[in-house]
Amino acid sequence: MSFSDLGLSDELLRAVADAGYDTPTPIQEKAIPVVLMGRDIFGCAQTGTGKTASFTLPMLDILSHGRAKSRMPRSLILEPTRELAAQVADNFETYGKYQRLSKALLIGGESMADQIKAMDNGVDVLIATPGRLLDLFERGRLLLNDVKILVIDEADRMLDMGFIPDVEKIVSLLPKMRNTLMFSATMPKEIRRLSESFLMNPKEISVAAPSSSAATIIQGLITLPRGSAQKEKRATLRDLIRREDAKNGIVFCNRKRDVSIVYRSMERHGFNAGQLHGDMAQPARMETLNRFKAGDIQFLVCSDVAARGLDIPAMSHVFNFDVPTHAEDYVHRIGRTGRAGREGHAYTIALGEDSKYVAAIEKMTGIAIPPVDKNKSEKPAQRDKKPSAAAAEEPAKKPNGRGDSKSKRVAPADACAPADSTDQTAPPAEQISKTQKKKSNRKDREREREREMGFAADDLPSGPVKGLGEHVPSFFMNAFPASKSD
Ligand code: AMP
Repeated sequence: MSFSDLGLSDELLRAVADAGYDTPTPIQEKAIPVVLMGRDIFGCAQTGTGKTASFTLPMLDILSHGRAKSRMPRSLILEPTRELAAQVADNFETYGKYQRLSKALLIGGESMADQIKAMDNGVDVLIATPGRLLDLFERGRLLLNDVKILVIDEADRMLDMGFIPDVEKIVSLLPKMRNTLMFSATMPKEIRRLSESFLMNPKEISVAAPSSSAATIIQGLITLPRGSAQKEKRATLRDLIRREDAKNGIVFCNRKRDVSIVYRSMERHGFNAGQLHGDMAQPARMETLNRFKAGDIQFLVCSDVAARGLDIPAMSHVFNFDVPTHAEDYVHRIGRTGRAGREGHAYTIALGEDSKYVAAIEKMTGIAIPPVDKNKSEKPAQRDKKPSAAAAEEPAKKPNGRGDSKSKRVAPADACAPADSTDQTAPPAEQISKTQKKKSNRKDREREREREMGFAADDLPSGPVKGLGEHVPSFFMNAFPASKSD
């Protein structure tokens, strides 16, 4: 199938050809015609499958007729992080180059005044993180009654980050008659439940994680003795990077403060490193990211939140300085390498006490991560075999004494199956809703999130909006009929 079979306009086909794409990816093939028909979509797809174009392309065509009114966006895309929102905005630039649609990005950490100005001018496509969107809404700076298309991207990540109450609030402010597209990399029960309330008779589309990444990522696990010092982990990381002669890579830490420590340590030891975490101002984050993408920075130390969805095609290595405590994060982390058919390498440094997290990862992926001796220089053994059903059912063996130490290729595709069958590591639904109830005060969550993301919300112009602000609804201008007594 080619792009011209999908029903897209000539302008879009030209833009797609300019981007160098020959054939649609599976999610594009499945989703684009359905979105063009105006049907809702519930898509299970990860970053790297081409899912962004699967919704941006048809949206651009649907929106090409009509004009946005001031403060009334015609479509809304919700993203969990600022970087992902910025990436989606770039996609609109690329694919929308022959159309004259306006877009705006509402993300924390950037000037609210500029964002308000963009809203005032009217936008066809609004790309936003939930917190900043609600902030502006509550300040009367935008109206959501004209949104015809809603995209909820990375829904499972929204759930992890505690954004679902915000998303629910936003959805309740939108017109009932709309087209909704919801995407999630995994399908825990909570996401299925939400899809039932957000979507109407959706077409369910599920695509496997890019097979190239599953097939081309070489993994390894170095386990240090229980209680080893952080210093020891940093030395192990340095040895590993040198031994691997890594061209470039991301070093993942579980905690924000460790990002800075590991980054500074790498710099001190002569590595060309950068860091990405929530305490950095947004312009500095974007600059670091761009320098990493351009190859000016060789190693980027970052947290899961900061690195989520980063699309860097030629990354040779991923190093997990810490074992992720959520098994799904492991799949997301290692998916940053081995893209577009290239060979990738993903190494994890564990302490003895991390064995329960390693076991959860192995149980989820159905494959044991091959152990690597930190003092030996040979690469971990490879085996092409897919995980057997038994491997997926049986809890994986512990790092010491594991049975199959050779299997090492992950098949993250099963993340799309319902939570009951595969997502053994996700917290039960009741636990999720309890946790979220605790966070039900939006203002508290907003403050908590801003602390986590490291920005102060307010660079807003002047105080609260009075009445309807500058917006005067047209019916206010209608003349009253004269009464008889006049
Ligand atoms: P995404 O899953 O949306 O993050 O896309 C991952 C990468 O695939 C991006 O760099 C896109 O530019 C690229 N991409 C999207 N669609 C196609 C396509 N049909 N052919 C080749 N590359 C594509």
